[in-house]
Amino acid sequence: MLFCEDSELLERECLGPCLYRFSVRSNNICDNAKPGQFLQIQVDGGLGAFLRRPFSIFDIDRSNGIVDFIFQAKGQGTRLLSKKHVGEHINIIGPLGDGVFSWDGCGNVMIIGGGIGIFPLYLLAKRLPKKHNAFVRLGFRSKDNVVLEDEFREQCHALNIFTDDGTYGLRGSVCRNLDSDLGSDDIDAIFACGPLPMLRSVKEIAARREIPCQVSLEERMGCAIGACMGCAVKFSDTGKPPAYARVCKDGPVFNAADVEF
Ligand SMILES: Cc1cc2nc3c(=O)[nH]c(=O)nc-3n(C[C@H](O)[C@H](O)[C@H](O)COP(=O)(O)OP(=O)(O)OC[C@H]3O[C@@H](n4cnc5c(N)ncnc54)[C@H](O)[C@@H]3O)c2cc1C
Repeated sequence: MLFCEDSELLERECLGPCLYRFSVRSNNICDNAKPGQFLQIQVDGGLGAFLRRPFSIFDIDRSNGIVDFIFQAKGQGTRLLSKKHVGEHINIIGPLGDGVFSWDGCGNVMIIGGGIGIFPLYLLAKRLPKKHNAFVRLGFRSKDNVVLEDEFREQCHALNIFTDDGTYGLRGSVCRNLDSDLGSDDIDAIFACGPLPMLRSVKEIAARREIPCQVSLEERMGCAIGACMGCAVKFSDTGKPPAYARVCKDGPVFNAADVEF
């Protein structure tokens, strides 16, 4: 079920450089959202920021009807959004996306996030039944960019933080030693979201190990309801003509093996 509503901004927290956590009121979205789904947010910027901006659902507090999303203010629309005040209303469409994370039949899982790609993975870690030991890897550029460490630690069996420059946690890519860790931790499902080069590496390593892997994609998006095809991605091994899937409607979560990065 899809809702379009004016939701009150209840809390606005600055988490780090240009990074904001917004908490909005929406019982409807709370009751219906699944891990991996996203929201389309109107930023009220006139023609300059006419299109809504898509953001993953970060967290849901069902008992209080509160939905959280976190965003990086980098372009015109997100910078405008970051200036909203508590008490203002924000028009939200959601929950969007038919492709969601699915953990049926898996045991130990590996969750891998890079940069702003960590946000859709928190609700997944929170909703996973505790019998699935979740091993989480989060990658950031530098110590100043590291966020949500305590929140993720609370929801998982083991957490490793990586920074590109080694100023915090382990130095290097979030895929460092991933191949060997997948074997030693007895992982049988992988969930990932992050920049495309990272997802490409995760897909390759998962394929080598024959471990099912689901990825959440963040493509540029227009309508977000499957009509405009602006967010189409190419599917693998589909012959000619190639098949495409819409990130907004068919995704944003896909089996990594199906997607051609
Ligand atoms: C399913 C999904 C979930 C996302 N979740 C998050 C999240 O939780 N937190 C977060 O910070 N970002 C997230 N993003 C990326 C975020 O939507 C873009 O960074 C944002 O739309 C950029 O808007 P802007 O006004 O800053 O940039 P502008 O450059 O002004 O945007 C111009 C247009 O391009 C689109 N656009 C630009 N960059 C992207 C991008 N990387 N992905 C999709 N559309 C883009 C915008 O929607 C807009 O229509 C997500 C994207 C998708 C598709």
